[in-house]
Amino acid sequence: MRDLALSYAREHAQAHLEALGDFLRIPSVSTLPEAAADMHAAAQWVADAMRRIGLEAVEISPTAGHPVVYGQWLGAGPTAPTLLVYGHYDVQPVDPVELWTSPPFEPTVRGEELYARGASDDKGQVMAVLAAAESYLAAAGRLPVNLKLVVEGEEEISSPNLAAWVAERRERLACDAVLICDSGMLNPQTPLINHGTRGMAYMEIEVQGPAGDLHSGTFGGLVDNPFNVLVRILAQLQDGRTRRVLIPGFYDRVRPVDEEERALLARIPLTEDDIRRLTGVPKPAGEEGFTWGERGTLRPTLDIHGIPGGFTGPGKKTVLPARAAAKVSMRLVPDQDPAEIAELFSRYVRSLAPDTVTVQVHTLGLARPSVIDFRAPAVQAMARALQAAFGAAPAFMRGGGTLPIIADFQDLLRAPVILTGFGLPGDNVHAPNEHIYLPNFYRGIECLIHYYALLAEQPGQ
Ligand SMILES: [Zn+2]
Repeated sequence: MRDLALSYAREHAQAHLEALGDFLRIPSVSTLPEAAADMHAAAQWVADAMRRIGLEAVEISPTAGHPVVYGQWLGAGPTAPTLLVYGHYDVQPVDPVELWTSPPFEPTVRGEELYARGASDDKGQVMAVLAAAESYLAAAGRLPVNLKLVVEGEEEISSPNLAAWVAERRERLACDAVLICDSGMLNPQTPLINHGTRGMAYMEIEVQGPAGDLHSGTFGGLVDNPFNVLVRILAQLQDGRTRRVLIPGFYDRVRPVDEEERALLARIPLTEDDIRRLTGVPKPAGEEGFTWGERGTLRPTLDIHGIPGGFTGPGKKTVLPARAAAKVSMRLVPDQDPAEIAELFSRYVRSLAPDTVTVQVHTLGLARPSVIDFRAPAVQAMARALQAAFGAAPAFMRGGGTLPIIADFQDLLRAPVILTGFGLPGDNVHAPNEHIYLPNFYRGIECLIHYYALLAEQPGQ
């Protein structure tokens, strides 16, 4: 069955490329209110494609924002595993459009690359998922697994309605594994499986002193300067030597990492020189006692992002500003709870504040971290599928960034979530001249064909 599907995919490569072209021509930029009709057109395109390849119960379901498209094929029967695949049909804006060599919504092949907004993130990958399912259904009449496909339209605006949509359909979406096909390879030779993400607590500290700006010659020495106070507070958030976060209780819930995971991560080469070259810093830094890879993915961090206010123009002005503020975020790891961390942060900051000023702490955003066991059978099956399609074993690492839908899927569906994809680091995702390396589009289709088969062969599913 797998061989039939693989040969079908190879014979229909051109048709799959053309279908992707049609999908890419729809300017489905989710953040633009004027793109509402295009968002519907893209959702309709996905629904039509699902029906055309033979998925059932296809529906475009409305949300408070852009609709979610759903389709399923459950013909493998109740004893076969059920895989839920997630992708998104919305794309990022195209500005600055003058930097595009060819128009962003006119898919253009140059060399081995297909250029268009969404080619790599994520329409090319959604198309690979559809093409792999089509290859089985057309060539063998069936899939080795039950398949549930969720393609949403709000990923690029942080999926505000997806968790509620999933929560309302827990039974219908029940599955043994969730595959998020929306990322890329470590480098052109090495596929990558992300088995976790960091969460976030994004905070703002506001220090209010006098009712209005004062002259430092008249009142300097008589009242506290909100900037001086703010800087003293900020300086106490992190130890300058060990780089550990000093908020009491911050590390209490950090789950220890086992030696096997540390060993896997150590296989991904990341040296002091790499970091220098990538960033231009004179010397990298980070939390004492951890490797570069660990600091960047499985340890929590704290960063100050901006301190607006006061006088910042050229020359000098001896103002004693009435107000100072700072934006600070913390990347969090399992099992830190973002709401609890925000509370610990607020409490600690308020405890550092003198009674000569008013300090307020606001929470600007919270997102939960996630991790899944890389030994889970559904993850190991993906490792073998990537090996079969790309001829190389994948690297495993948790992502350093934040993708809240992973924790939502995990909690709501109680299934392992695997994040992988066929993009390359140089695909210009979210930037002008986004493209997908076409050999990876075709290998992606083959990888998914292998994955559906390998998942079905997993013992214990
Ligand atoms: Zn994406």
